[in-house]
Amino acid sequence: MERTNRKDFIRKLILGGASIVCAGGLLFRPNNILLSGMFASLSATSSGKSVSGFSPLKEAMFYTALENNRVLCQLCPHQCVLADRESGLCRVRSNISGKLYSMVYGKPCTYDIGPIEKAPLYHFIPGHRRLCIATVGCNLRCKYCHNWHISQTGPGRVREYEMTPGQMVSEAFRRGVRSISFTYTEPTVFYEYMYDISRMAQREGLKVSIVSNGYINPAPFRKLLTYLDAVKIDLKAFDDEFYRDVTSARLKPVLRTLKVLKEENIFFEIVNLVVPTLNDDPDEVKRMCDWIVHELGEHVPVHFSRFVPTYRLANLSSTPVRTLERAVDIAHNSGLQYVYIGNVPGHKYNSTYCPGCDKRLIHRSHFSVLSNHIAQAKCNHCGYEIHGIWE
Ligand code: SF4
Repeated sequence: MERTNRKDFIRKLILGGASIVCAGGLLFRPNNILLSGMFASLSATSSGKSVSGFSPLKEAMFYTALENNRVLCQLCPHQCVLADRESGLCRVRSNISGKLYSMVYGKPCTYDIGPIEKAPLYHFIPGHRRLCIATVGCNLRCKYCHNWHISQTGPGRVREYEMTPGQMVSEAFRRGVRSISFTYTEPTVFYEYMYDISRMAQREGLKVSIVSNGYINPAPFRKLLTYLDAVKIDLKAFDDEFYRDVTSARLKPVLRTLKVLKEENIFFEIVNLVVPTLNDDPDEVKRMCDWIVHELGEHVPVHFSRFVPTYRLANLSSTPVRTLERAVDIAHNSGLQYVYIGNVPGHKYNSTYCPGCDKRLIHRSHFSVLSNHIAQAKCNHCGYEIHGIWE
């Protein structure tokens, strides 16, 4: 496995030609990023090999070429229109001479092993280990992002590796995992890499899941779902104002994504991070739970996660446990069958209870599965069918 880092990257660029880095160096701005002379050099590598030694750029899927070398990216609801040499809000899709490219194909910033409970996906082969993959970049600007150091940056700003999709699938087998998971940053923005790995992984018998903010257009999402087994969506609030102020996105497209998951019959779970004073209003929680029951079904697992002060919301306090317990009560009253509390290790609602007989089926503490009383998708005690993927 070849590895590289930003220092090597810059050094190779400099050795590759003095014209590559202009006086301003590499400029990254939060939106429609205008890069320096780096683009001119990269666009000149028509042989498919970049001067830096990185993998070739990958032409993006889901875009339309416009006049004057501009492009319209149709991957996510931001629908960025980019002039030549501009990058999208996600920082990782760039217009080079009228074509849109993924700048992170084959360049994960991390790949490591973790429990599926960390996703969290509680109804997806409990206790199994997955290979977690991320590149830099995100199409949201969440003020409480825990992974902001990789999500809120662009290519070449942190250590990146070189891994083809085939190498990544081999790595999964080498490390003996049951599944591959795209997580940590927003996988939508490295769509082409994720898509190719997912196709290959599923063909080889691995399961595949994503952990996503759900901010993706329906056409690319449906295409990807062919190769996914499980999806976790962050429903960050049930209020468009929260979405605009805290995430720089909108609520409606996320709700649309959830409906697509139901239509396509893909297994999914929902996480709602409860942030004190911003989205913890009981009426809002009630509206959200009612919407989930009516539009998606009472069987959808819902997790209320505890917020911990970080990044641009370091001034707020952690979510009180009683606020999370109140949310669980509201969800149960709305009719939701599987409701969890996350980020509170050892809490009763880390565990799964049978909707039929109320007995504890999966005893968990945080990310650990201590016992499991589900067999052939049914409660061992009363035979109630439990929604999920268990084998
Ligand atoms: S993925 Fe979204 S944010 Fe990124 S370029 Fe495309 S439309 Fe813009």
